[in-house]
Amino acid sequence: MKNKNSTKLFEEAKQFIPGGVNSPVRAFKSVGGNPRFIKRAKGAYLTDEDNNKYIDMIGSWGPMILGHAFGPIENEVRKAVKSGFSFGAPTKKEVTMAKLICDLVPSVEMVRMVNSGTEATMSAIRLARAYTGKDKIIKFEGCYHGHGDAFLISAGSGAMSMGHPDSPGVTQATANDTLTVPYNNTEALAQIIKKNKGKIAGLIIEPVVGNMGCVLPNDGYLAFIREICTKENIVLIFDEVMTGFRLAIGGAQERFGITPDLTTMGKIIGGGMPVGAYGGRKEIMEMVSPSGPMYQAGTLSGNPIAMSAGIEMLKHLKKHKDIYKDLDEAGLELATGIRKSLKELEIDYTVNQIGSMYSLFFTDKQVVDYETAKTCDTKTFGLYFNKMLEKGVYLAPSQFESLFLSTKIDKKLIKKILKANLESLKEIKLG
Ligand code: PMP
Repeated sequence: MKNKNSTKLFEEAKQFIPGGVNSPVRAFKSVGGNPRFIKRAKGAYLTDEDNNKYIDMIGSWGPMILGHAFGPIENEVRKAVKSGFSFGAPTKKEVTMAKLICDLVPSVEMVRMVNSGTEATMSAIRLARAYTGKDKIIKFEGCYHGHGDAFLISAGSGAMSMGHPDSPGVTQATANDTLTVPYNNTEALAQIIKKNKGKIAGLIIEPVVGNMGCVLPNDGYLAFIREICTKENIVLIFDEVMTGFRLAIGGAQERFGITPDLTTMGKIIGGGMPVGAYGGRKEIMEMVSPSGPMYQAGTLSGNPIAMSAGIEMLKHLKKHKDIYKDLDEAGLELATGIRKSLKELEIDYTVNQIGSMYSLFFTDKQVVDYETAKTCDTKTFGLYFNKMLEKGVYLAPSQFESLFLSTKIDKKLIKKILKANLESLKEIKLG
């Protein structure tokens, strides 16, 4: 496979951009080899600067649930561009977007648009603190909530792949206010809440984790969390930046039937444009400025072009709810196929899957939390990743990421992916 142009661009990029990329995992550091520089994407495919074409299993890390450059979204963006790029003043589209989100996610009674998932989570914990008058927050080991200081403690995916899970630059004082507990462990959570009684403002969780690879909550785990948060006056924040509008139209909270107090969103609501949002109970959201005293702002927030893309995306998902059934079926077919290949080759790896999210973990342990995720053989994953890439399948360049399907990955493509998977695993096994 030719890689001359990407290699040249990467060398050049490294002189002007730290590590040559604008977000760390993109650098292929944990899998080896040079990142591919993408020039175009359409439907299920990415095309790189050397004209290699790949089946894309990341979908811009989640938002491309309808495939790349989806026609109706492209049309709306084209129309919007003609009316100007940014006004810094309220627009009708922001009202449409807010109403749509509140309609599709019943726990969200009011919502504030921001520009990224990071902004959404940072704002949500500030709000939890403002609302409760308490300081500490709980997060789970291996969960990622963006790069806000308070979250860069046992931070999952990117940080996990880079081998420095905590970042210099985060002060000890900030770290002291972030309590971390293992995912899927009710006992540890109950204990930390007991030890810090009356001090915890909020608990933030990925209801299904995407950032240590795909990890599902145990039966009853989210219900336990809901109950203990209510009892202890802790604001429960579901970080649905990955799962929102993906695992169901109403996100993981709809799928699992659990109602959080606040929800953070991103990715899909921008249809690929830089968008995030946080929302939830009216009583809490009314604390946000200028309605209340908690300050949070954004010059480009609610950007009209981003709103146009997001509104079209959500309208389409709302109108075609059968998409979720199709995505569930595709996810299951892929996971079942991978498990079959593993069995055939007598390899004891683990596949976690729910709906259109899945991960193949290079470990024989059940992956239920950060500790078990860390048992993966990341070196062999790197080999597998590169073999899949050579066969035209673009996976996330880290063991600790979930993969995301789009509606454009049909049965024919699933067959192709499974063939590449079997061949790649075979080649690795043979050495
Ligand atoms: N929360 C979760 C669950 C995420 O997966 C991510 C990003 N992958 C974020 C927050 C941060 O979003 P962004 O990269 O848009 O800042």
